[in-house]
Amino acid sequence: MSTNFLDLTLAEMLAGLRSGEFSSRELTQAALERIQTVEPAVHAFLSTAPEAALKQADTADTRLSAARQHGETDLPALLGLPIAVKDLLTVKGMTCTCGSKILENFVPPFTATSIQKLLDAGVIIVGKTNMDEFAMGSSTENSAYGPTANPWDLTRVPGGSSGGSAAAVAARETPIAIGSDTGGSVRQPASFCGLTGIKPTYGRISRYGLIAYGSSLDTVGVLAHSAEDIVPIFTQMAGADPKDATSVDVPVPAIRLNNSTDLKGLRVGVPAEYFIAGIQPEVEAAVRQAIQTLKEMGAEIVAVSLPHTSYALPVYYLIAPAEASANLARYDGIRFGPRAEADSMWGMFRQTRGQFFGPEVKRRIMLGTYALSAGYYDAYYGQAQKVRTLIKRDFDEAYQKVDVIACPVAPTTAFKQGEHTGDPLAMYLEDVFTLPINLAGIPGLAFPVGFDSNSMPIGMQLLGPHFKEDVLFQTAHAYQQVTDWHKRSPKL
Ligand code: GLN
Repeated sequence: MSTNFLDLTLAEMLAGLRSGEFSSRELTQAALERIQTVEPAVHAFLSTAPEAALKQADTADTRLSAARQHGETDLPALLGLPIAVKDLLTVKGMTCTCGSKILENFVPPFTATSIQKLLDAGVIIVGKTNMDEFAMGSSTENSAYGPTANPWDLTRVPGGSSGGSAAAVAARETPIAIGSDTGGSVRQPASFCGLTGIKPTYGRISRYGLIAYGSSLDTVGVLAHSAEDIVPIFTQMAGADPKDATSVDVPVPAIRLNNSTDLKGLRVGVPAEYFIAGIQPEVEAAVRQAIQTLKEMGAEIVAVSLPHTSYALPVYYLIAPAEASANLARYDGIRFGPRAEADSMWGMFRQTRGQFFGPEVKRRIMLGTYALSAGYYDAYYGQAQKVRTLIKRDFDEAYQKVDVIACPVAPTTAFKQGEHTGDPLAMYLEDVFTLPINLAGIPGLAFPVGFDSNSMPIGMQLLGPHFKEDVLFQTAHAYQQVTDWHKRSPKL
């Protein structure tokens, strides 16, 4: 069966399914065949569920053809659509390893709310994607199950931690993949793989069933080829959830993108602090060019300042590990995953955690435990929380003057596998432009704005005030109508 279906836009895919031009079985089969062909080189998936997926596709097809016969139009919005899900989100009956040996073979008994909402809308989950262990990393090299390759250049990383999700979409294995973003894990892989990716406002999408990393920072996000493709997925997942006390009961707007390319009236802020020494010159040039394009489309460009930006990295690398050290205390060899043998209970805890957590996770647990320990709590964690407030205030002030902020996603394009693995600090530095957004809790949308001289994609992010995802989608959609970066695909 042709894999050309996988080149369609989401709207075309859904329309083709409805009209009967092709079936969900054909589409799902095409995805599964593509997965078989490219996975030996890409390794985007940790597990796939071909039989279950095809069975669900048949159920969707029955429903679709009955609807056609009876002229029924009120169908679940995403009926018959194959997608991929990061292995950090639970799906009942599918293994959920979080990229860690400590959850090898763990099959959760419940489904994450965000994913359940997509299942209710008719999606088919073809598999779970690779990631840095417990979402700690920026390259997917911290997966206990081996790295994922960047489909644009197999010797490079796809970014992380949602690198498997990004690679799956970039390699056209599935049109959509769900990821998570605690400090950039959707936006940076989107940027490295030439995709569009949303990190929603904190609390916009339920975290129930998203295995916790840094609970005050964690968000569920979406990776796709365009803003237009993300909107129907985002809209399904958003909304308050009684199972997540931090989800926020703010109405989810019905987002109807219009095809106007006129951005008159839109004020775009450009923060000086995001164009710093050390940034790859081609990244800066492409982002500035994209800002110029927004200007030519009618937007007003305004210089803004986010003076506390340089503190975001140390603040994040105190808060996230502190929260992680508490969240990861539950992996003790008793409740989940494998257990190491030892002659005492404490010995068993030590052995299990010592054997089955990877080196980066252990580093974070140690960092976090230290930052929270008696005598250091105020100096580190308490102080970091105060500076976090200042970082959030920077954004609040900027949004008095502008509607959105435009800046690079990462200081570089995708780097080579192994380039930063021996140097955790160099790896953390890749996150300088993504972390402040999670600390402030605001939404960010990454999308491609060019390529560097190695033909690697360059991403820009648009940031908005809390709950203003719709403005980000509309602005990126306008940009994507006058440019074609998002339409390019790697040759695999
Ligand atoms: N790279 C960052 C970290 O390692 C962010 C990861 C994420 O967003 N999950 O913590």
